[in-house]
Amino acid sequence: MRSLPLPSLSARVVFQTCISKALPRHKRRLVALEQAVVDAADQFEAAACAAALHTLKDLAKKPVDEVDRTQLTNTYTNRLVPDRAPGNALYNALKRVRHKICPLCGHRDVSTLDHQLPKMKYPLLAVVPINLVPACGICNGLKGEYVPETASEQTLHPYYDDLADQQWLFARLRWVANRPPEVTYFIRPPEGADSVLAARVIRHFQMFSLAELYGPNAVREMSNIRGILRGINVEGRHKYLLIAEKSVLMDKDAGGQNHWKRSLFQTLAGDSRYLTGGFDQF
Ligand SMILES: [Zn+2]
Repeated sequence: MRSLPLPSLSARVVFQTCISKALPRHKRRLVALEQAVVDAADQFEAAACAAALHTLKDLAKKPVDEVDRTQLTNTYTNRLVPDRAPGNALYNALKRVRHKICPLCGHRDVSTLDHQLPKMKYPLLAVVPINLVPACGICNGLKGEYVPETASEQTLHPYYDDLADQQWLFARLRWVANRPPEVTYFIRPPEGADSVLAARVIRHFQMFSLAELYGPNAVREMSNIRGILRGINVEGRHKYLLIAEKSVLMDKDAGGQNHWKRSLFQTLAGDSRYLTGGFDQF
């Protein structure tokens, strides 16, 4: 749930670089596909800007020829990704992100590129930079070959969607009798939020199992700060948690409005039971 700057590489440059060392018989076929790739990139850009990637169904039918489709997907797998591939330097450049944090979960390290629209279904977009999102392996696997059917089913695209100005992610602390308290995460759209965007954020949250990722991390974090809270009084604990929240908020690259730690510290600072001794249960 973090945004990223648009990649500066063009689809044409990436495609040309990837196919530069292809065998002549493959190269002829790929060169003939170059303009179709560039046109597909333009179509993708227009749809992504309008949050309408679900409207690109026709693009999935192109090219019709199965050999062309295989050559295009192989361009990613064999000519962009491998260490000695002609496109490898570009692959690494596309994967480079400040702090190395996966924009989809906002937590794990980037280790791969995720196709916003899957390459097997959209071979013309296999090496189009704006369709390639730096991601961790788990997010990449969770999304798989997913294609949105409607506007509301689109997961967030880090190059085109930015939630940083408002808080969407919240944490809840639930005290349960005879059991350790529970921390749960949920999405609450800001007042006046666009209903389609709200549905998309919820879809994104579910698709990448973010509640399941953040909950256990929150419990670990609470265990980490227990010792600090023991050494100070209630007022000091409240102050400490507010400062901790602020420090996440101030560093947009490291956290920001929708970092799980921000929501956690915010909730803990407002929970009197936690502040008056409940913290010791974590
Ligand atoms: Zn991730």
